[in-house]
Amino acid sequence: MRLLLIEDEPKLSKAIAQGLREEGYVVDQAFDGGEGERLAFMQEHDLIILDGMLPGLDGLQICQNLRRERIQTPILILSARNQVQDRIAGLNVGADDYLNKPFEFEELLARVRALLRRQVPSQGVQLQAGPLRMDLSCHRVFLQEEEIKLTLQEYRLLEYFLQHQGQIISRLQLAERVWEDPDISLGTVDVYIGYLRNKIDKPFGTHLLQTVRGVGYCLRYDPSDANP
Ligand code: CA
Repeated sequence: MRLLLIEDEPKLSKAIAQGLREEGYVVDQAFDGGEGERLAFMQEHDLIILDGMLPGLDGLQICQNLRRERIQTPILILSARNQVQDRIAGLNVGADDYLNKPFEFEELLARVRALLRRQVPSQGVQLQAGPLRMDLSCHRVFLQEEEIKLTLQEYRLLEYFLQHQGQIISRLQLAERVWEDPDISLGTVDVYIGYLRNKIDKPFGTHLLQTVRGVGYCLRYDPSDANP
């Protein structure tokens, strides 16, 4: 489990990071808003612990930006402000939980664990990108209501893309997250991308699975790209 901690008070950041590492989590640390947001976009995390008051970019703003880009990573906001209004503002911009400073590390840990547990199929039973729909409860995929037959590996790959819609995903990230094997040949990833395209885009004239030259791939639905 990889966590991102965005907290500008060095002592507090150090104490939290150390405690979480002792619990076996990998912790990336950022000390200002801009750096935190950059890390959140660059690297996939299982949870983000976000201080509300940060130099550079405010915690609520970061939260809002991430959600706008469809990054659904659970977010726990830490704040010195003990106001109900602030709490509501945090939850309104897409935070999942809120913890007031000062707090006991044990409480933070309990909340982190609870959020990570809750995460599993957070998107419900359906994932969708325009005409493409994946039903997770019965492992079936439909495009324009026509069922697409996928192998297990193709299904897992497509599921990952649907969960990260609009994000550019590198081949290495796919190797690590879908194959769970960073040593797999990146050519294999390309081959599977080709298989998927032959099944979901080619027959329908859609361009959902896009190549971002030199970076990776991106699944994105653009309504203006709808086929005839
Ligand atoms: Ca702060």
